[in-house]
Amino acid sequence: MDEIIIAENLVKDYPIGGGNFRALNGISLKITSGEFTGIIGPSGSGKTTLLNIFGALDNPTEGSATVLGKQVEKLSHKEQSELRKNSIGFIFQTFNLLPIYSVYENVEFPLLLAKIDDNERDRLVREAIDHVGLTDKIKSRPDQLSGGESQRVAIARAIVKQPKLVLADEPTANLDAKNSFHILDTMVKLNEVYKTTFLFSTHDEKVISCLRRVVTLNDGRIVADEKKEKVEVCC
Ligand code: ADP
Ligand code: MG
Repeated sequence: MDEIIIAENLVKDYPIGGGNFRALNGISLKITSGEFTGIIGPSGSGKTTLLNIFGALDNPTEGSATVLGKQVEKLSHKEQSELRKNSIGFIFQTFNLLPIYSVYENVEFPLLLAKIDDNERDRLVREAIDHVGLTDKIKSRPDQLSGGESQRVAIARAIVKQPKLVLADEPTANLDAKNSFHILDTMVKLNEVYKTTFLFSTHDEKVISCLRRVVTLNDGRIVADEKKEKVEVCC
């Protein structure tokens, strides 16, 4: 399957004060397997709303979103949950780690949910932690990690099941420039190693120059979609 995401004329209205607020206003977009794409745009432009639809966390008001061959708005709640659990990795701005668990246990969590057997689970967890460069922190708890390290744990957790698609909503928003570049570099490496398709949102000017494809949103519309042959080295 070559096309990982096909969005056709997506509209999202949120009910407010007896009326509707149109957060997405006719988004059409295709993301091909193995792409590494940034969605940029000012706060309020619709980035999170769009990623939530692609992640089967929310339904569009109009239009359709086909993700990994499934038309998400036509799926039942259970089917949407299966799609999220089996095929999509999520990375959030606020890391969302489980505070009482170690790095190892946080990364292991999605594999426990998926009932992967012990040996295979251990192998996948160690491999993912190694890819994000945190093997020496494998027993640490989140409160013993820096922001950049916490986000790298979240990345390891997102890729541990080797999903075809990773959605990341402003993953560098709480990090300084050095850590933002490190996070981006880690995602670029994983995109190459696993051929994972990455779609992430940012309004972080620092990281935009490192991207091959940048889709710009404004007021719920795509106002630019640029592909570059050459990109700057991030770190
Ligand atoms: P971004 O992620 O680019 O900052 P969002 O997708 O979060 O943008 O929001 C787009 C617009 O939709 C914003 O104006 C926001 O206030 C509005 N919005 C988002 N979620 C809701 C909601 N649940 N109810 C009402 N309005 C919302
Ligand atoms: Mg947002």
